[in-house]
Amino acid sequence: LKTAIVIGGGIAGCSTAYALAKRGIPTALIERHAALAQEASGNPVGVLYPKLSVKPSLSDQLQLQGFDFTKQLLATTLQATHFQLCGLLQLAHNQSELNKQLVLIKQYPARLQLLDSQQASELAGVPLSFGGVFWSDAGWLRPSKLCEVLSDHALIQVVTADSALSILQNAGKWRVQSEHQSLDADIVVICNAADLKQFSQCQDISITPVRGQINFALPTEVSRGLKTIVCTDHFIAPAVDNIHAFGTSYARNRTDASLCEEDTQSNVRALRQLSPALYESLKNSTFTGRVAWRTATQDYTPLAGELVDATALRASPPRYNADPKTLPWLKGLFVNAGHGSKGMITAPLCAEFIAGIACGEPSILAPRLAAKMSPNRFVLRDLGLKLMAQTLYG
Ligand SMILES: Cc1cc2nc3c(=O)[nH]c(=O)nc-3n(C[C@H](O)[C@H](O)[C@H](O)COP(=O)(O)OP(=O)(O)OC[C@H]3O[C@@H](n4cnc5c(N)ncnc54)[C@H](O)[C@@H]3O)c2cc1C
Repeated sequence: LKTAIVIGGGIAGCSTAYALAKRGIPTALIERHAALAQEASGNPVGVLYPKLSVKPSLSDQLQLQGFDFTKQLLATTLQATHFQLCGLLQLAHNQSELNKQLVLIKQYPARLQLLDSQQASELAGVPLSFGGVFWSDAGWLRPSKLCEVLSDHALIQVVTADSALSILQNAGKWRVQSEHQSLDADIVVICNAADLKQFSQCQDISITPVRGQINFALPTEVSRGLKTIVCTDHFIAPAVDNIHAFGTSYARNRTDASLCEEDTQSNVRALRQLSPALYESLKNSTFTGRVAWRTATQDYTPLAGELVDATALRASPPRYNADPKTLPWLKGLFVNAGHGSKGMITAPLCAEFIAGIACGEPSILAPRLAAKMSPNRFVLRDLGLKLMAQTLYG
């Protein structure tokens, strides 16, 4: 019987532990805080919708597959009070967004509806200045509730207030040394977001923490009418627990954890474009908020899959046409991280992919998509093995 250790108790870690436990694998889930979901996955509301590009790409494939996968996961695990597929309006707030939407509507007629501003206002329940595309099955969820429910499994041992320090090979198993103990297992999945760089096996992975601030306001008479999520490059959600979540800011290279008034004001100003009526009714509210860090990769693609020994690879680079199976794989050591702004739809799918391949099942991802997400792509590209990076899984 295989055993596993998952490092990090956000949505990536909790969904990975769940996917492993579902397959009968006893799993220890280690989180450094006293409770799960205290960092990026700790926002009271997460929005669930795919962001697509005009030219169909592997990223779109990931967004759509992940969106459908998370919805299915919510339906089977989470009580209906903790998520709502209330629909989402992506407003055509400028010419380039409108041009994009006119293309998308042709590509995805079964998923999207194009609405003028009057139809959009009726659907939203508040007056809007723009029309746009409507995702009828998009919505919001409570990320921390999902983490809690996924990790509440007889085969998952949740270890909180303990920080994983190192990962070593020991007698055919992986040993995770933490502050308080040392644990051995056949499978280790690194799900600790930007802190994965602390592990020697992850030195070639390129990631950046991106600060984000979300704000909250109490509903007003006008804003209580809001029935769907409304988005430009900002969003506002209908009141959940008597609070509207809206925002969010993006700032690379900023490490300050306290709320920033400038960011609050910029999130408030963005409401004007979302709906002038909402802006007028909310602009004088008392705002609260929350700061956290997204983990962005250089190519805006998550990291999901088994690691190779990058040091061994660099010491003895393979020929360009070598069989990827002959690379120095670190058997049983995986990464699920780098989910940027879309972790609610990408992390659970990556978790299912990793648990499946760890158990020798056929991959649930198309080979090209799995290769695109491989955490080894950076070292392979660096060694000039671009084609191998694209065809790692055939
Ligand atoms: C302001 C903001 C708004 C967002 N809105 C949305 C949204 O609407 N929809 C959406 O899909 N996504 C959204 N995101 C992105 C989403 O929150 C992330 O993609 C997702 O939460 C990442 O999950 P994670 O598990 O990889 O990371 P995290 O949730 O950060 O979890 C990593 C965990 O690892 C733990 N850890 C770190 N090092 C160690 C160690 N050595 N030992 C033990 N534990 C360790 C940390 O304490 C943390 O709990 C938003 C992000 C931000 C910041």
